[in-house]
Amino acid sequence: MEGLLTGCRALPPLAICSHQLPGCIPHRFHYCAPGKGKRLVLSRMFQPQNLREDQVLSPEGKSGSLTCKSQRLMLQVGLIHQASLGCYHLLPYAVRAMEKLMRVIDQEMQAIGGQKVNMPSLCSADLWRASNRWDLLGKELLRLQDRHGKEYCLGPTHEEAITALIASQKTLSYRQLPFLLYQVTRKFRDEPRPRFGLLRGREFYMKDMYTFDSSPETARQTYNLVCDAYSGLFDRLGLQCVKVQADVGSIGGTMSHEFQLPVDVGEDRFALCPSCSFSANVETLDLSQTNCPACQGPLTETKGIEVGHTFYLGTKYSSIFNAQFINDHGNLALAEMGCYGLGVTRILAAAIEVLSTEDCIRWPGLLAPYQACLIPPKKGSREEAAEELVGHLYDHIAEAVPQLRGEVLLDDRTHLTIGNRLKDANKFGYPFVIIAGRKALEDPAHFEVWCQNTDEVVFLTREGVIELLSQVQVV
Ligand code: ATP
Ligand code: MG
Repeated sequence: MEGLLTGCRALPPLAICSHQLPGCIPHRFHYCAPGKGKRLVLSRMFQPQNLREDQVLSPEGKSGSLTCKSQRLMLQVGLIHQASLGCYHLLPYAVRAMEKLMRVIDQEMQAIGGQKVNMPSLCSADLWRASNRWDLLGKELLRLQDRHGKEYCLGPTHEEAITALIASQKTLSYRQLPFLLYQVTRKFRDEPRPRFGLLRGREFYMKDMYTFDSSPETARQTYNLVCDAYSGLFDRLGLQCVKVQADVGSIGGTMSHEFQLPVDVGEDRFALCPSCSFSANVETLDLSQTNCPACQGPLTETKGIEVGHTFYLGTKYSSIFNAQFINDHGNLALAEMGCYGLGVTRILAAAIEVLSTEDCIRWPGLLAPYQACLIPPKKGSREEAAEELVGHLYDHIAEAVPQLRGEVLLDDRTHLTIGNRLKDANKFGYPFVIIAGRKALEDPAHFEVWCQNTDEVVFLTREGVIELLSQVQVV
């Protein structure tokens, strides 16, 4: 009864309540489950749909057409909404997916000893002048002044900030190193051509890790450790990324790799050698080079989205800011650094770009905002009697599969046919869609289960559904 009252009172009182249970305050939706807490119903989800292409701004700031599949699908199903050029509202479903991605990233970074920090976005111009990047980054840097006229930029990356932080510690010992410090924060870049939705924004989420080692040898080990963690992360997401040699660009350093997700809308091009493991961004190759520098075999070229980037920095930043530690001889020495970026919002969009069909979103299983959607029969249909079974199934899943609590939605729009709601569910890409159709009236009742990851449709009893869902991994 307690759950019932909490569930009902949270809603605006309206005229219809189909439960008519004692103590049930009239409300609009099937929201109360006696003693079981709230049910998540689709009709109450905030899911603004952006169907008109002219609502999206082109790089020139004019309204224009949607430029790629992930952007179109994400707008259509209400994952994102454009706020201004290159800036997007992340809507509730997208935030759920993002938070899952951040949890997977946290797990992988902490498994290799990463410690999470959170640095201010407001970065002092003094630090950026010291590294000479205040001028070097030109128009890409978003600059502002405070009321005292002091200059800042909105952080596009944080090498300066983290190195100054380490430099402020005067008694660091080699015994404490390496430090692997990372954060997941918003980054700001006034990109010349923001486009493709979350793939290239002006404000986006990045995971950036900075490592501090006591020698070049251990720093290289750390570098490989982080690269391996990136490969492991993409494997867990089911994304087939290629690690390619890359240019160090304005970040600097002596060695760099990109993690590229091969797909046609990608703005990068990389060369692959089918005979050996060589791969490199074409920017790093000699223009005339058509053969593999390692085995001389012919190279093939592929387009890709850069989802991650790693740099071996050496002492480039530690020498500027004097980030030192006390070495095993008791002398001060400069820390050997690495920095490692993952485009968090970009990974989300890139995954949708490579996994989805033209009309239907497909998620990496771990990132799906909700794992299952239950579709009860249409009001007034022959199967209507099975409606209660679906409610019971919902409560039973919450009880029997604890990891799926809060992961299952009930599509309570029973004024729509099952077919229409299935079409929506298919477009949205829930890993499991569970329907109470004709066979739900059999004894025992059978539910129709659509499994997105295996592309199968199976009929299962309540116990069968529970067994299937028990195997779902949730992060
Ligand atoms: P790009 O060449 O695509 O501009 P970058 O080399 O400037 O990328 P880094 O500075 O290495 O990128 O940033 C780390 C990661 O942040 C990138 O690998 C990418 O995944 C992500 N990223 C960079 N710029 C953007 C952007 N404008 N929007 C979304 N993600 C971005
Ligand atoms: Mg860039």
